[in-house]
Amino acid sequence: MNTKITSVLDVFKQAANTLSNPEVQEWKRQGGKVVGYFYSYIPEEIATAAGLLPFKIRGTGSPGAQLADKYFSQNVCSFVRDTFELALKGELGFLDGVVTTNSCDHLRRIYDNWLTIENNPCFHFVHLPKKRGKEQTDLYYRELLQFKKSIEENFGVQITDDKLGDAIKLINEKRRLQREIYELKKKGNPPLTGAETLAIMVAGTAMPVTRYNQLLQELIAELGMSEDRKAPIARLMLVGGELDNPELIEILESQGGLVVTDALWYGTKAIWNNVAETGDPLSALASYYLEDRPVCPRLFGTFSERFKYVKKMAEDYKADGIISVRLLLCDQWGFEQDDLAGFLKEEKIPYLRLETEYALGTTGQLKTRVQAFLETLREV
Ligand code: SF4
Repeated sequence: MNTKITSVLDVFKQAANTLSNPEVQEWKRQGGKVVGYFYSYIPEEIATAAGLLPFKIRGTGSPGAQLADKYFSQNVCSFVRDTFELALKGELGFLDGVVTTNSCDHLRRIYDNWLTIENNPCFHFVHLPKKRGKEQTDLYYRELLQFKKSIEENFGVQITDDKLGDAIKLINEKRRLQREIYELKKKGNPPLTGAETLAIMVAGTAMPVTRYNQLLQELIAELGMSEDRKAPIARLMLVGGELDNPELIEILESQGGLVVTDALWYGTKAIWNNVAETGDPLSALASYYLEDRPVCPRLFGTFSERFKYVKKMAEDYKADGIISVRLLLCDQWGFEQDDLAGFLKEEKIPYLRLETEYALGTTGQLKTRVQAFLETLREV
């Protein structure tokens, strides 16, 4: 791998493996403000249009949840507990504000608990609908309007339609470049591992978009000229919810398989379409985020649409098998894994379901299960 590729990948890996990474620090050093958000139904375009840096909050590097456990019941998932632990320890102190949502009952508890703490950064809550449809898109539009006003009031800025339109174009460009990265992964011997790809995608939620797009362009140009890597023994697809840790994919790939595609929110689901660049920009955002993207299991009645998407991606990327990863105690993804198992069995697509904690502990069992899965793929 040439030094240019390595150095760009290092920037992305550092952004993915830490929270307050050098790109964020430089942004703040120049007087920029950072808005943290949970969940991919909070449009990053709105904060970007306000001249703020949107930062998707993770629990990266949490040492456990000793402090946070005092705030949550034991049936709350480890993503929520680990992330709140970092908040209590001041590791999210670089955020100038946080917007939260009712994406699931576990995540909702972060908001409730954060509000009990003095000087907490939460300044807005977006209510998300549980279904798709015209009424729900109208409701979501009104929520986005409130969110926009809240940013304007809290940060003393004005978000004009022109600024919002420019932010939509900028982030559409990011999605287009990310799709180019995924296009390279259709090759028989893709130039990037799944772990590297996830680092690239996570970095896209953790640094200024202009700088990110520029680095991504450089990386794509270099990858186009790089030598091919060895073909993997199996091509894998990943499906799951809170999956933001490249180390987890490294562990899966350490057994000889290669993750070539996914149905993840830090992956293809966040980039597969673009927001319309004509018409009222806020309406375009409401339509895109609620109607025009691959959908999340929290929206009722959408499972067949999701499973069709999984099947299509597996076919397009010639995946030999699919692995789903769920955090222990996550009910949403527990049901999803069950239903997906039934669907993939009918489709005769090999499938492995895994459960982990957010912070990886011992990994021997994970490796053994993946190794056994790869052996079954060789026999197919
Ligand atoms: S992992 Fe599951 S339970 Fe935890 S925040 Fe995500 S959707 Fe909610």
